[in-house]
Amino acid sequence: MAGFTAPLRDMEFVFTELAGLDPILSLLGEDYTPELVSTVLAEGGKIAEDVVAPLNHPGDKQGAKLENGKVRVADGWQPAYDTLVEGNWLGLPFPQEFGGMGLPWLVNAATSELWASANTAFALCTILTQGATHAIIHCGSEEQKAKYLPKLVSGEWSGTMVLTEAGAGSDLAAVRTKAVKQGDHYLISGQKIFITYGDHEMTSNIIHMVLARTPDAPPGVKGISLFIVPKYLVNEDGSLGARNDVRPVSLEHKLGIHASPTAVMSFGDDQGAIGYLVGEEGRGLEYMFLMMNNARLNVGLQGVALAERAYQQALGYARERIQGKAIGKSERGPIIDHPDVRRLLFTMKSKVEAMRALAYVEAAALDLAEHEKTDEKRRQGQLLADFLNPIVKGWCTETGIRVASDGVQVHGGMGFIEETGAAQHYRDVRITAIYEGTTAIQANDLINRKLGRDQGAVAKALLADVKALAVSMKKDALPELAAIGRAMEEAHDEALAAIEWVLASAAQDARLPAAASVPLLMLLGTVLGGHQMARSAVAAHARLAEGSHEKDFMTAKIATAHFYAHHVLPEALALRRIVTEGSNTVMSLDSALF
Ligand SMILES: Cc1cc2nc3c(=O)[nH]c(=O)nc-3n(C[C@H](O)[C@H](O)[C@H](O)COP(=O)(O)OP(=O)(O)OC[C@H]3O[C@@H](n4cnc5c(N)ncnc54)[C@H](O)[C@@H]3O)c2cc1C
Repeated sequence: MAGFTAPLRDMEFVFTELAGLDPILSLLGEDYTPELVSTVLAEGGKIAEDVVAPLNHPGDKQGAKLENGKVRVADGWQPAYDTLVEGNWLGLPFPQEFGGMGLPWLVNAATSELWASANTAFALCTILTQGATHAIIHCGSEEQKAKYLPKLVSGEWSGTMVLTEAGAGSDLAAVRTKAVKQGDHYLISGQKIFITYGDHEMTSNIIHMVLARTPDAPPGVKGISLFIVPKYLVNEDGSLGARNDVRPVSLEHKLGIHASPTAVMSFGDDQGAIGYLVGEEGRGLEYMFLMMNNARLNVGLQGVALAERAYQQALGYARERIQGKAIGKSERGPIIDHPDVRRLLFTMKSKVEAMRALAYVEAAALDLAEHEKTDEKRRQGQLLADFLNPIVKGWCTETGIRVASDGVQVHGGMGFIEETGAAQHYRDVRITAIYEGTTAIQANDLINRKLGRDQGAVAKALLADVKALAVSMKKDALPELAAIGRAMEEAHDEALAAIEWVLASAAQDARLPAAASVPLLMLLGTVLGGHQMARSAVAAHARLAEGSHEKDFMTAKIATAHFYAHHVLPEALALRRIVTEGSNTVMSLDSALF
């Protein structure tokens, strides 16, 4: 079973060359230095490699169990979780006033990726806790912040996101769980399904963030409110009180992430679960979106993380597995010498690097949205983060699945056999394109909200940057990079044409852009990921010209950007045709004729 090596050099390259770590740190103040970030990252890497990753395969085999009403996590989970709490890793991006480290979201993106590469089933507990924390910071009352935040930020308590019901999955307007006001609180009753880390004993309390409907609420989205429902009620002095009326009913048997407990949860079987309203009645979904955007970035990062893990696994195997004589060789040798295996590995590597860069650029935009000096600059940061969010979630997870599949392929038959671990990465990554909103839901968000609300203004501004870079790469004194510039310009033209078509076709028949929304999302991910690869090549080229001592790393960066330009970016051409020429046919066959 291959181990995991934290890809710290690539992470730092993205931090400094593409995502603007230094300007972000200077917005945070002089305590936040690049050296501090390097130390944090190195320490996180060690924990991921030595503490969390070794639990991945045994956890997959053992799974989580529900016994006598209690969820038992896999062996080793508790000490590993305690290690994260001791190091304040869950508090990394949160304000110091609540006990956090106040570091950038950009750095949190890297640690989030590290935990997920090491062990996605384990890491989910941290993602959901950070999501609940984020929602309370932004929407909770002062009293709720004082009561819940310090222990959520530290990780002493964990958090959940409790949305889904049997009849309400993608369509959360259909939520039926009831919330009846009683004095200063509400009584919650109903059944929720698929709740990640819905119950476990790793933390002394669990803070459930629950969507429910008050009795007189209007139907649909506007009738949904958000409630804090603690597993154990919290007394005025912060000590834990009685057990609340919320229980795990069963755990799901799943394709992957076996060790993450996915629970059916029952609220209010007896007297009613006590819940506390967050913000105002009827604004629950709006608040939940705050939590979901944060979680969606983290799930996009899971796609990156598992692709990285699958790549490392495949690379190790390709270097060791002896099979056949490679063209031009006289002896039998490792499969990495066969051109097609090299192609598979290069595809994996280039997609991982493109995805990582794009996801970190989104995280950096969140930092700008929070810390920039003027309202206008903060607004620009938020607009960019909002626009990239569905693309990072949708494209990085769908691409992560393909990369993990290529990882299986590199292994041949051994990839299909569980012992190598390649199969687990493929199984584990599959869920990422489903939870936190399926790819179709991300794509709907992209065309309806993100493109529709400003008629593509943010998208077109981003594409203008792509074009400007492409043109300068073609023209400047960088003949080595001109081919990347040409491929980028072509891909840019396809993306712009697709966006124009989507905006125009919406006026004719709303089904047309909807039928093209997922291909459009994949097209934009491919092109914007390619833009980051082109930026990487320019930066690496500059470092080499300065005499960088990292010749191998920088040379590989440029070669990887070339590979992406020739093997991945051309997908933009096909995707544009699917968007503009294929949408009409999608609804052409009556559903009865399928
Ligand atoms: C392992 C796991 C963990 C999970 N963890 C949590 C959790 O912690 N908390 C929580 O609340 N939920 C959780 N979920 C639920 C998850 O978020 C939902 O499964 C997901 O949102 C999809 O909903 P659904 O399963 O009802 O599918 P459906 O909504 O029934 O979708 C089925 C298909 O129809 C498509 N579809 C549906 N509506 C549209 C539309 N408007 N446009 C285009 N296509 C559409 C979907 O894309 C999908 O392909 C988890 C699920 C799993 C499997």
